Amino acid sequence: MIKKIFLSFLLLILMAVGGITAILIPAHQQIDALNPPFPSLKSIRESAKIEGLPVSIEMFNTATQMVSKTSVLSSVKKDDAFEMSYPTFLITWENGQQFLIDAGMTESVALAFGKPLETLGAGAMKFHGDLKDFIDPSNINGIGFTHLHEDHVDGVRTLCPAAKGLVVVQGHEQFSQVNYGTSAQNELLDSLECGKRLLIRDDFTLKSIAGFPSLYLINVAGHTPGSQVFVVHVKVEGRNTTYILAGDLANHIEGVESNTSKPVFYSRFIVPKI
Ligand SMILES: [Zn+2]
Repeated sequence: MIKKIFLSFLLLILMAVGGITAILIPAHQQIDALNPPFPSLKSIRESAKIEGLPVSIEMFNTATQMVSKTSVLSSVKKDDAFEMSYPTFLITWENGQQFLIDAGMTESVALAFGKPLETLGAGAMKFHGDLKDFIDPSNINGIGFTHLHEDHVDGVRTLCPAAKGLVVVQGHEQFSQVNYGTSAQNELLDSLECGKRLLIRDDFTLKSIAGFPSLYLINVAGHTPGSQVFVVHVKVEGRNTTYILAGDLANHIEGVESNTSKPVFYSRFIVPKI
């Protein structure tokens, strides 16, 4: 009897490992095959030389959670906790035109999203508000996403029904290349009643977005298939500043400053990445 229970238990474990492997191996192969070219620094600087730059960029956090630096960096000098944020960025032009980059999360999704890290010792997820608590959805003309993970896309549903004629901007790669972590959000964008997709399909590394001067999209690899980096030049009081919005390509500034990657367990078993 004990032998039977042990064999059943072993079989269940083998089936679970087999199932996870069947999902993870193709996901790693898919992401490892991505290597899109970058635009040059010169071409990014040149792209600011146009009329009609936006006049402001603002950031709002839909939620925040205190987490350990070791959960996002493979090597750290000191394991301090830091505030992981789930933001949205609002870009505004002089004529009132507005574009959002990423949408954060709704309350129920944010609280559920924070639970796994809470069981590993992170602080409680704090919800700060839906998009409509920070912005007027009826003023938003366009939205784009750095990538299609739930914590960057879920909040878009709160723009409807107030948003009218919302353009959902995606590079063709983001629309067509998905994995187990992004396909549900691609479907959410399909079902969005207040928005219409604008797919960008060209050979430029720095892709301009029609109707939104000085906002550009770069197709990149890394955190998910279909990841996008946005470049925007903003002019305030005669001075241009360039912002590069890179989503989860790095989760902490030390990852950028010291070229430190994410933890191996995270990259191998949670979110396949290069
Ligand atoms: Zn992500």
